[in-house]
Amino acid sequence: MSWPVRSSLLTLAAVLACAPSEDHSVPHWDYADLGPGKWGALDPDFATCATGAAQSPIDVRDVVAAPVGALRADFGPAELRIVHNEHVADILNTGHSVQVNYPDGDTLVVGNDRYALLQYHFHSPSEHLLEGRPFPAEVHFVHRAPDGRLAVVGVLIEEGAANPAYAPVWENLPPTKGVEVHLEDVMVDVDALLPVDHASYRYAGSLTTPPCSEGVTWIVMRTPVTLSSTQLAQLRAVLSGNNRPIQPMNGRRVMRDDIAETDLPALGIAPR
Ligand SMILES: [Zn+2]
Repeated sequence: MSWPVRSSLLTLAAVLACAPSEDHSVPHWDYADLGPGKWGALDPDFATCATGAAQSPIDVRDVVAAPVGALRADFGPAELRIVHNEHVADILNTGHSVQVNYPDGDTLVVGNDRYALLQYHFHSPSEHLLEGRPFPAEVHFVHRAPDGRLAVVGVLIEEGAANPAYAPVWENLPPTKGVEVHLEDVMVDVDALLPVDHASYRYAGSLTTPPCSEGVTWIVMRTPVTLSSTQLAQLRAVLSGNNRPIQPMNGRRVMRDDIAETDLPALGIAPR
């Protein structure tokens, strides 16, 4: 089975496309007839989708300053693996997304916690809102700590200049659901997918897809990245409407991490 590769800059040492094995142990869910309002009733394992009190995504507003752990993300170039599947066969079942698995496990360090990057995937339109404002798309970088805790970095995408960092992914967007493509020599500079300014919003939330597990550290970048209208149209052609609606805060607060240590005493906060 051939795979269309549009960039002559990319050398594909191995191209593998295959139909995934259907996992019947995971109940079907989607964003339509079996959409977000029904997820919690589809399976006992999905109950948190309906009963959870710290769910994601949220409308980011009423942000408070707080001394949160410094963020350091060092993502090098990595082999590219793209999966476009209704139920991706990994622990997160991200579902209905274009997902890029990340086998090399580069790390995200948040304060004293170190997480390995597992995969990143896309939502169109965005799941998080900034003070009520939706964005055309959002990318989630999913990380896991050695003890199993998850941290997700969310990057909002707005329409603007073309973004060359996303080109290697965009040139290989799988047009068909259920196809996994392995492109050994396609290199993506993951760090360049993030905004230059790593200032972020932090809150405690959940996976935005079943089983909606809580205890997820959310890091939403304050600065969006841009994609051109053409790049956004290419994404929408393969992915549209996979955004869970915003969830109630239930007393949670969003914190911002761009407070300088020297400003903390003025804010009544003891420096670390
Ligand atoms: Zn996601």
